[in-house]
Amino acid sequence: MSALQKDIVVGVIGAGAMGAGIAQVAAQAGHQVKLYDNRDGAASAAIDSMATQLAKLVERQKFTAEQVQQILARLEVAQSLEELSGAGLVVEAIVENIDVKKGIFDTLESLCSKDCILASNTSSISITRLAAGMKHPERLVGMHFFNPAPIMKLVEVVSGLATDSKVADCIYETALQWGKKPVHAASTPGFIVNRVARPFYAESFRLRQEQVADCATLDALIKGAGGFRMGAFELTDMIGHDVNYAVTCSVFDAYYGDFRFQPSLIQKDLVDAGFLGRKTGQGFYSYH
Ligand code: NAD
Repeated sequence: MSALQKDIVVGVIGAGAMGAGIAQVAAQAGHQVKLYDNRDGAASAAIDSMATQLAKLVERQKFTAEQVQQILARLEVAQSLEELSGAGLVVEAIVENIDVKKGIFDTLESLCSKDCILASNTSSISITRLAAGMKHPERLVGMHFFNPAPIMKLVEVVSGLATDSKVADCIYETALQWGKKPVHAASTPGFIVNRVARPFYAESFRLRQEQVADCATLDALIKGAGGFRMGAFELTDMIGHDVNYAVTCSVFDAYYGDFRFQPSLIQKDLVDAGFLGRKTGQGFYSYH
């Protein structure tokens, strides 16, 4: 199946770190994009921040001013989910909570045409479970971008038991057309990357909890000796501890409490304190 035509409207739900980035990627690829967030002003703030980032790319000659103007003209704030009813693809990037996500897909099924593809950017929630009970579960697929979405190339295209292979192929081709490197994955807990990454975070957090070394030393070591681009502490500060912790809990539960995926107490402390990382100015590191 071929990629989505460029004249298809793309809806994005959630204007946080991921939704904003996905909206930008789709607009850069030529789609009209409607961005919805249930937090007042969040979607327009996200578009303002994209404008600032894109202006920097003009300075660095990655885009012309005219291209940026065209990209921004394709980005629109949707005031309600109803405004997404004409979309041909809706990508959900809201809080990592199965009940809230299921609620969104229920509403979308009542609003969007039967041909509209519904995609979730979930990091870990089973696409099979998300689709269960939907009227058309075959059109639900995982479209899992990585942070920051405009820069990171990988997209996991995740199929649940009911996902139509034509839908997954269309999303795969669309991701390719959007300049990404997609990979098909079955809907197992954490899919591919977030499963492999869990023990990396967990062991780093254990080292810190046992006070083996401070965060900066551990991050520097992983980068210098391990060749990683970021250490676990700076990376999870960037991802957001609420998001990262929720993903770990979800993978841990899905594997019936397998110790390899056990959530970290020091990360839970950060979440409880509201120290969510860069987005709140405080995580393992301070950004004030
Ligand atoms: P975030 O907290 O930055 O943004 C989430 C946004 O969703 C917020 O603006 C919030 O107001 C909005 N929202 C919450 N509930 C909503 C609802 N019912 N309707 C509309 N908007 C709602 O989170 P994020 O980091 O962008 O993560 C979003 C999703 O993407 C999660 O499923 C997460 O697991 C996944 N993800 C995150 C990363 C990452 O590195 N942060 C990477 C890949 C995937």
